[in-house]
Amino acid sequence: MAQKTENKLDFGSKWEYAAAPESADHASIMDEYGLYINGKFVKAEGGKKFASINPSNDQHIAYFAEASDNDVDKAVKAARKAYKEVWSVMPAKERAKYIFRIARLIQERAREFAVLESMDGGKPIRESRDIDIPLAANHFFYYAGWADKLEYAFPGKKIEPVGVAGQIIPWNFPLLMAAWKLAPALACGNTVVLKPAETTPLTAMKLAELIHDSGLPAGVVNVVTGAGATGAAIVNHPDVDKIAFTGSTGVGKIIQKAIAGTHKKATLELGGKAANIIFDDAPIDQAVEGIINGIFFNQGHVCCAGSRLFVQENVKDEVLRKLIDRMGSLIVGDPLDKNTDVGAINSKEQLNTINKYLKIGQEEGAEIYQPKCSLPNKGNWCPPTLFCETSQSHRIVQEEIFGPVLTVQTFRTVDEVIDKANNTPFGLSAGVWTDKGSKIFNLTTKLRAGVVWANTYNKFDPTSPFGGYKESGFGREGGLHGLLPYVNLV
Ligand code: NAP
Ligand code: MG
Repeated sequence: MAQKTENKLDFGSKWEYAAAPESADHASIMDEYGLYINGKFVKAEGGKKFASINPSNDQHIAYFAEASDNDVDKAVKAARKAYKEVWSVMPAKERAKYIFRIARLIQERAREFAVLESMDGGKPIRESRDIDIPLAANHFFYYAGWADKLEYAFPGKKIEPVGVAGQIIPWNFPLLMAAWKLAPALACGNTVVLKPAETTPLTAMKLAELIHDSGLPAGVVNVVTGAGATGAAIVNHPDVDKIAFTGSTGVGKIIQKAIAGTHKKATLELGGKAANIIFDDAPIDQAVEGIINGIFFNQGHVCCAGSRLFVQENVKDEVLRKLIDRMGSLIVGDPLDKNTDVGAINSKEQLNTINKYLKIGQEEGAEIYQPKCSLPNKGNWCPPTLFCETSQSHRIVQEEIFGPVLTVQTFRTVDEVIDKANNTPFGLSAGVWTDKGSKIFNLTTKLRAGVVWANTYNKFDPTSPFGGYKESGFGREGGLHGLLPYVNLV
């Protein structure tokens, strides 16, 4: 029988979860993937390639071609030709059918995509299965619907596509970010050269296969794998009309400088350091779940992660007690196990960055808490981490860590928490937990954040625009707003 010890129910080891691994047998992975250019899978110039590994066990997954400047040039030329001759002149309702077909194919192959996403990136299968892959399909469905209705999105305007879009995405939501980029671009009649991140190219190349199967005309979507230099080649190519970038604020600044003075349009979706604010009238148990989801979802590799917790002083003890209790119940481990809550850190580099901040936080005088959990011997792991006794000036409060690390501060008044929440170079998202609708409306107008969630966190929908203020970038993805970066309105 369960016994109560130190405020916790102790069920003994017999009550632990048995492993429930998702089978990976049905997912096929080739030894080597080429670049997808002009409707064909081709080797990179000079046969250059790099490996992607599974961050949960260090196992080699496959080799991927490393695209040179010349390879990128070929991809841009193919995209330009397809733009002029096929895609921009195709009736919009025909374009819609292709986008719809891509959405359907993702749904049909969802199980395989989910497994591959978790293998390549380290995220729990529950998340890739229930969030990343369905949302990716939904983005294609949603924008397929817009393709032949653009005149209703922009009434009274003459609508033209922008041309060739260069799209560069990060490793935290590989397939989903590809969908966010591709779907609106295609719906508006643009062609694309897409570059996935170096550590997570697998589902982008699988998507290229799927797009090929959909019969999309050659050159409309081109996928080039590689490192930062491949991304830079896209940014600097003179025949690219638009850059859509999701990634760090540092690289975003490099891109903005590189395209200054050119004709290129840009959207930059950059970093964040969101405030998650808990008032004393909030439903506390629900808020604690929201804090957990806000920071530990996808190991905290989330641009809009609720990484700065602000708790009203009079409920601090209760919130922290419940939070620490809940952190102790999180299951950290094999991303393919359906029980897993927190998977592997995406790369050794990212783990080093996180560990650097764990050290800095302690040196700055913050109090660290990590639950006892046994971590696998191989791969990249970081337990869920809480820093108490932090202040606004601490680096762990100001800088994006991009890992499962939460800082806690308290506040007394509404004005105080608004000041504290806005005291950051970023402005991507925020969370507010309270029983009072008036408080929610007050805060949503005063928080400088692109998205503010109320009594929930990390909720995404294709109909809802997403994007930042300040150093979190500019431009919106999702919803009607997400069409704007891909059209010229005359
Ligand atoms: P990153 O280092 O900026 O990389 C993002 C992408 O840019 C990758 O494909 C990367 O290639 C490429 N890249 C690197 N250097 C480049 C250059 N000089 N020119 C052109 N492309 C270049 O970011 P990350 O570490 O992958 O991702 C984490 C960051 O993304 C976090 O800051 C996070 O907040 C942000 N993010 C923002 C959003 C949002 O919607 N606002 C969403 C998700 C993530 P390699 O992978 O090969 O280096
Ligand atoms: Mg990988």
